[in-house]
Amino acid sequence: MTTVEAPETHLRENPFELAKEQLRRVAKTFQIDPNLVNVLSQCKKAVVVSTPVSMDDGAIQVFEGYRVTHNIARGPSKGGIRYHPDVTLDEVKALAMWMTWKCALVGIPFGGAKGGVICDPKKLSPLELQRMTRRYTSEIINEIGPEKDIPAPDVGTDPKVMAWIFDTYSMNVGHSVLGVVTGKPLNIGGSLGRLEATSRGALYCVREAMRKQGRKIEGTTVAVQGFGNVGSYLALFLHEQGAKVIAISDSQGGIHNANGINIPAAIAHKQETGTLAGFRDGEAITNDELVLIECDLLAPCALEQVITSDNADRVKARMIVEGANGPLTPGADEILDDRGVVVMPDILANAGGVIVSYFEWVQGLQEYFWKESEVNARLNDIMTRAFNETWNAHDQRGISMRTAAYGIAVQRVAEATMTRGLYP
Ligand code: GLU
Repeated sequence: MTTVEAPETHLRENPFELAKEQLRRVAKTFQIDPNLVNVLSQCKKAVVVSTPVSMDDGAIQVFEGYRVTHNIARGPSKGGIRYHPDVTLDEVKALAMWMTWKCALVGIPFGGAKGGVICDPKKLSPLELQRMTRRYTSEIINEIGPEKDIPAPDVGTDPKVMAWIFDTYSMNVGHSVLGVVTGKPLNIGGSLGRLEATSRGALYCVREAMRKQGRKIEGTTVAVQGFGNVGSYLALFLHEQGAKVIAISDSQGGIHNANGINIPAAIAHKQETGTLAGFRDGEAITNDELVLIECDLLAPCALEQVITSDNADRVKARMIVEGANGPLTPGADEILDDRGVVVMPDILANAGGVIVSYFEWVQGLQEYFWKESEVNARLNDIMTRAFNETWNAHDQRGISMRTAAYGIAVQRVAEATMTRGLYP
């Protein structure tokens, strides 16, 4: 008899169930009408598509893809597309719901959506990746559009993938539609500052939190989990501000160096080899060890559910900034909150990406492009305002930053729904 092992996944619990649980808790604290909570607990629309692709060896492989819209009460839906072997429909639904809250919290006129394709982009050739992206785009072409639903990069996708989505959509309608997707390369209507935006927003968030505590970034010890777009730029920005980044990791594992890691060298190594493996500026550690390291600030910037009720009591950091979406489970939240750890929640901490996506969408619609300093100054304004609103609610009501952020966001979406009224 052979045993078929379940594929290893980072998802220990159903993420959509966790997202709904978060919503129920927040609704109770903020006394939101149960009828509205019922509406907001569900996704407006979920499309499942089959994406057949001719592989380089002549075989045909079929990939399952999703595009989910959670809510459009405050504007067209917005959210990234994830390429990862562990993608599930319920994961995409949770990520779509979090996009609704994120856009509401930072006050940009979008609802929430997310897409995903079950695949390992690292194992596809550039041509296979392009064919898969174009076929997936044409399968969801009736769902997306600049006034309807606007995709962007997420885990496993990048500006190159956005360029193919933009081109496929534009070829089908017969003219270039800049506003259909954000995170595009600069030479075809991307925005300056978009690539670094998620990390820059997280940096502003850390700066504000430290200011509230009378501390400085300079000299702070930091551990960053995940060295993709978000983790690598956040490590770099903190390093440039004088923080000591003592641990970094990617999906292959990580390194620890109590004297501080040379982050520009780590980024150069990752760019050259595609991984942090083989970068020797400290001793090797696993991802599980990294989140438990002694440091001032922990930045989980990879996938969901890395800190759960199983390990939260052993986390030594005093402050956590969620570069990833959903890296802490509600169980972990409770333990960390009791221990006085300040958690800057995903919908606030990583909102910089969608904020500059909003700027890119506006620039595309107006065909008028801004300087990088303008992009960063406006990002700073929005992040600082959202941080202060969240901090004040946390401070005045004695609730966690997560409950405060979700409460503000859910209330805004509930109010927009009430103002519009239920159709018909
Ligand atoms: N995928 C990113 C997020 O989770 C960016 C979304 C966007 O720019 O629309 O926020």
